[in-house]
Amino acid sequence: MIDVKNLYKSFGDHLVLDNISEHIFPGEKVVIIGPSGSGKSTFLRCLNLLETPTGGSITFQGTEITDPKVKIDQIRQQMGMVFQHFNLFPNMTIQKNITLAPVRTGLMKQEEADQTAKALLHRVGLEDKAEAYPNQLSGGQKQRIAIARALLKDAPILILDDALSAVDTDTEEQILHNLHENRAGKTTLIIAHRIATIQNADRILVLDDGRAAEYGTHEELMARGGIYRSMYEKQQLEKQLNEEGGGQE
Ligand code: ADP
Ligand code: MG
Repeated sequence: MIDVKNLYKSFGDHLVLDNISEHIFPGEKVVIIGPSGSGKSTFLRCLNLLETPTGGSITFQGTEITDPKVKIDQIRQQMGMVFQHFNLFPNMTIQKNITLAPVRTGLMKQEEADQTAKALLHRVGLEDKAEAYPNQLSGGQKQRIAIARALLKDAPILILDDALSAVDTDTEEQILHNLHENRAGKTTLIIAHRIATIQNADRILVLDDGRAAEYGTHEELMARGGIYRSMYEKQQLEKQLNEEGGGQE
């Protein structure tokens, strides 16, 4: 579904993505991890050409999107993207924020969009916030609204860049569980940090200093005994210490 070949990205003389070649299969949930600054966001932003790669190619459903002749707007229609920081329109209710784009673009009639938005708000646990305004919501609640908005688009590819950083662990697990059920057969790419999120991925991509250091299932990467495994063991240890120390997050 997404084929990345020899992808390079530099900002000036700073090489940020260093020869990444990976294949992302249709319907998979891929989690991308790695230290801060390792290139995770840049990698995902290259996939829909929010960043222009310095070298290499990206093929999406058989179309080489890095070819300058390709109309990227059409490709972006196939992708939903939620960032850690994003904008909700402050003067519109949550319901309106969610339904605006699909109604404007003619994807849905207002009535259908309203009904779907209600169901999606339920899915992210915020059904009582339809008539609220963004400034009445916490950071984590706003993130969940942004996810509901992306789900309404129902794109074949959904990209979440640290989009659950401000929600608590239980809520994150619940949302990911919902995503899993409701996006069956569709591809989801998630930048995440928490082990619970990562463990449930179909495949994990570990970026390290711009390189794809490891790529595989939880079991495969555990058996490999590399970066992923040491990160996993460190988090397990931290979790244990936290629980012993009174269960603080
Ligand atoms: P991550 O998401 O893994 O934390 P990023 O992809 O955001 O990493 O950033 C990787 C590196 O690229 C960092 O050193 C960052 O400073 C640099 N970088 C990202 N975007 C830009 C940009 N627009 N201009 C210059 N440098 C950038
Ligand atoms: Mg990032």
